[in-house]
Amino acid sequence: MRPATIPIRLDDVAADLAMDCASPRATQSLRRRASLLASPAEQLRLLKAVMLEADFDALAGTALRPAQLEVFQVNLGKLCNMTCKHCHVDAGPDRTDAMMDDATVGRVIVAIRRTGAHTVDLTGGAPELHPRFRDLVQAAVDAGKHVMDRCNLTVLLLPRNAGLVDWLAERNVEVVASLPHYRRPNTDAQRGDGVFERSVRALRVLNAAGYGKGDPRRRLTLVSNPAGAFLGASQASVEREWREGLQQNFGVGFDRLFVLNNMPISRFLEWLQASGNLESYMQRLVNAYNPAAVSGLMCRNTLSVGWDGRLYDCDFNQMLDLELALPAGAHIRDFDEDAWQRRRIVTARHCFGCTAGAGSSCGGQVA
Ligand code: SF4
Ligand code: SF4
Repeated sequence: MRPATIPIRLDDVAADLAMDCASPRATQSLRRRASLLASPAEQLRLLKAVMLEADFDALAGTALRPAQLEVFQVNLGKLCNMTCKHCHVDAGPDRTDAMMDDATVGRVIVAIRRTGAHTVDLTGGAPELHPRFRDLVQAAVDAGKHVMDRCNLTVLLLPRNAGLVDWLAERNVEVVASLPHYRRPNTDAQRGDGVFERSVRALRVLNAAGYGKGDPRRRLTLVSNPAGAFLGASQASVEREWREGLQQNFGVGFDRLFVLNNMPISRFLEWLQASGNLESYMQRLVNAYNPAAVSGLMCRNTLSVGWDGRLYDCDFNQMLDLELALPAGAHIRDFDEDAWQRRRIVTARHCFGCTAGAGSSCGGQVA
């Protein structure tokens, strides 16, 4: 059963977001617009209705089985200071309905101390907006884990986050920063006017704190995604191009870059449908199915914890309400790593987004 909406302390966040909301934005959340696609069941129904011959499970076969648990990914909620067009979370400033409560934060901390996973990956929404973000980072650092902060860059400039970059740097937290493109028009088209300029300012703050300069304790990873219904180019060539573009034009550096495919869910699914690209994009993903990508899929070595404590094979399944297939229940309070190891990974048609081309995971291309 889902917990009731929590009385989270968001007053301090609200003032910051009011400032950010004043800037022109790309869109609003599906939930705020009362779109049918705010419902995961409706998204799955739409994907199922696409004429496709291929069956994901039949193609992936026995190669799609659990591996060692390496990454403990925690989604702190859907609150975000932005509302990007391609968002697979349907995040936005209005999403205070979906935020991790204190009891669940406590259970997550207990599980982090117990897990054999070497990495704790904090995501959202914008995880830095959660009132317990620093508590979770500190608990994971104290447990000896490598911590990744999935950051949208602009959130670092909000007044409430003054000093956060230095605080993360002191704890060797890796910043995994999403930036759709190193060119202003491409980024602003997905994220809203002015976002590129603020992202560059945030990159400068990170560089000044030692991030993006080759120091493994201050790793700055950028994450890019295509700006339309096509697959990303080769990660190595995109990284070279971005390194030159960002350094020459803006004097900022980074350590590595991930290229992700856009997943056909949530707001990107809405755009695919509205633009008449849904059938062709799904067929493109199927045509580009790469069996070599299966062994590197993140659902094999990652546990995804939802804002309400429910458990999933990955963040995408989380957004589609496709819970872990565990007989004892799929909630962090009952988490059993041995049972997790024996589970069947839950799949559906969106999974073709992970195996197309060079593959796509939270760690970028996989094949
Ligand atoms: S894509 Fe990231 S930054 Fe944009 S709305 Fe979604 S969670 Fe926020
Ligand atoms: S969407 Fe999730 S479950 Fe499906 S292949 Fe990708 S990582 Fe695995």
